[in-house]
Amino acid sequence: MNPCNLNQLGIDRDTPWAVGHFNIHNQEFIRAVVKAAEKERSPAILAVGMMSIKYMGLEPLITSCQVISKETEVPVAIHLDHARDLEIVEQALDLGINSVMFDGSALSYEENVTKTTKVVQMAHERGATAEGEIGIVPHGTDQVKDSDMTDPARAVEFAERTGVDFLAVSLGSVHGMKSAEASLNQDLLKTLHQQIPVPLVLHGASGVVDDHIAAAVANGIRKINVNTGLKVVLKNDLTRCFRDSPDSDLLQDFEGGMEAITTEVASKMRLFGSSGKG
Ligand SMILES: [Zn+2]
Repeated sequence: MNPCNLNQLGIDRDTPWAVGHFNIHNQEFIRAVVKAAEKERSPAILAVGMMSIKYMGLEPLITSCQVISKETEVPVAIHLDHARDLEIVEQALDLGINSVMFDGSALSYEENVTKTTKVVQMAHERGATAEGEIGIVPHGTDQVKDSDMTDPARAVEFAERTGVDFLAVSLGSVHGMKSAEASLNQDLLKTLHQQIPVPLVLHGASGVVDDHIAAAVANGIRKINVNTGLKVVLKNDLTRCFRDSPDSDLLQDFEGGMEAITTEVASKMRLFGSSGKG
């Protein structure tokens, strides 16, 4: 059955747990995430983002995810993260990716609706799922302004007009945070979950404190995106390893790094409640 789309991972709007979306950048990351999924008997999403495509190439990344996900029994989906143009969506779907996210958050509302609707059609024609975004999850040192947060009425209309399978919303998290300091607007999330007919997605989860992640799952988040936190874990492990064991074999160092990612991913799966659901 692997790889599968997001609707085949066992989650829907009403499941009391969320599935982890883990950005992967090379084969080490892919193997480390799949190993965690097997250890935890948890479904997982291998996410391919724009920086990683620039770094490794779209086809090598998707192909590696496909080959490695076929080796395991736990459900694994391959998902394109933050596509901002239709060409990359088309290329990824042609390569057989199972799910795509179109990020039209920088566009006007109407343009976001038009392009996301097109992406949903393209994905559904190939049996893939589609995620859209309404509201703005900022990057780096930017703060979340009240006007960036998702407006419930707009979000309901957006979900209905575009037909997205999953919807990313802005609740106070920021992309690219290297430590967990942000909290989320849980009241807004409860309102969104009540009104929006599709599962909701949290971006920028590396920067959110654990208590708020657990509360977000209780209040309706069903997919949680983790990227920066895994890079930090790998970098710290390799830094320590290169400093303490300068004569070790490089492959041993990488193996230790993968183990560190696996441990981190497994702890996220337990926090999201997806352990034992695969
Ligand atoms: Zn994101």
